[in-house]
Amino acid sequence: MEFNLTIAGTTSLVGLIGWPVEHSLSPQMHNAAFAELGCDFAYVPLPVRPELVEQALKGLMALNFVGTNVTVPHKQAVMRYLDELSEAARLTGAVNTIHIQNGHLLGYNTDAIGFLNSLEEAGCDPQGMRVAVLGAGGAARAVVYALARSGVDSMMVLNRTAERAAFLVDDLNEAFPDSTMTFKALTSQALAAVADQVDLVVNTTSVGMYPDVESSPWPADVPMPAQVTFCDLVYNPLETVFLTQARAAGAPTIDGLGMLVHQGAFAFEKWTGQAAPLEVMRQACLSKLAGA
Ligand code: NAP
Repeated sequence: MEFNLTIAGTTSLVGLIGWPVEHSLSPQMHNAAFAELGCDFAYVPLPVRPELVEQALKGLMALNFVGTNVTVPHKQAVMRYLDELSEAARLTGAVNTIHIQNGHLLGYNTDAIGFLNSLEEAGCDPQGMRVAVLGAGGAARAVVYALARSGVDSMMVLNRTAERAAFLVDDLNEAFPDSTMTFKALTSQALAAVADQVDLVVNTTSVGMYPDVESSPWPADVPMPAQVTFCDLVYNPLETVFLTQARAAGAPTIDGLGMLVHQGAFAFEKWTGQAAPLEVMRQACLSKLAGA
C-alpha cells in the first residue's frame, strides 16, 4: 500500500517501543491513517532493549514525542514510570498505548476497547452471554476485563496452564466484587464438557498463529455448536483453522482484524484528537498481511 508522508520540523512523532518491533503492522496502519487525513504526524518503530525502558521513556519526552505504542516485553515494565493509568490499564495490568501530555505520561490499554468495538462491528452484543475464553495470557486479560465490563452472564477461562487461569479468575473476582456474573477457571481439557453451555467462545491463545498455522485450540473431535459465535484474536493468518472449523459447523465467526484496527484507532484518536479512518487502517493491515 502506497502513501506519502512529508516529515518536517513541525511533524509530531509517535512510535512503538518493544523488543523486537519489526513484525508489527502498526507503523503501516498509523502512517496510512495520517496520510489519509493529512495529519502532520509520523509513526516510527523503536526497538528498545528490556533494560533500557526507563531511559527510552525519558528519551521520548525529551524528543517531544506525542506518544507511543508499547509491545512485548514492555507492557508491564512501563507501568511504574507512568503518571496516570486508565482503568483498563490498571485492571488488565498492562499498557499498550502512552499519550504524552504536558510532560505527563498517560497509560492506556486499548485492547479491551478494541475487542469490544470489533464485537459490536460484527453485530455481537456480549451482554448476558455465557462466554468461554480460551487462554489466560496478556490478551485474555484485556478480553475478560472488557467482557466483564459489558455485563456477560458468566465467563469460563480455559487454559493449558491451570494456575494461570485460576490467577486470572481471582483477579476478576477482585475487580468485580459485587457482580452477579460468575467466573470459573478450567483446564483446556474441560472444553468438550462445556462446549454446549456457552454462547460465545473467544480464542486468546496464540495457537494457530503464524508459523503454527495448522493448529487449533479446539480439538477436532469436539463438535462446535452452530448457535455459538466463535471469535479468534489471531490475525496472522486471518483465516485460522479454528475459524475454518467454526464455519464448517455453520457457526458465526469473528476474526482478529477488527480488534487490531479498533485498538489502533483508539490510540490514533488519543494522539491526534481526530476520528480514525477505520477503513484505511484496515486496508493497510490487509496489505501488510498480504506481504505488499
Ligand atoms: P501470551 O501472553 O504469551 O499468552 C499466550 C496464551 O496462549 C497463554 O494462555 C498460553 O497458555 C497459550 N498457549 C500458547 N501456546 C499454546 C499451546 N501450544 N497450547 C495451548 N495453549 C497455548 O500472548 P498474548 O499477548 O496474550 O497473545 C495471544 C494471541 O492474541 C497472539 O496470537 C496475539 O497475536 C493475539 N492478539 C491479537 C490482538 C488483536 O488485536 N487481534 C491483540 C492482542 C493479542 P499457557 O498459559 O499455558 O502458556
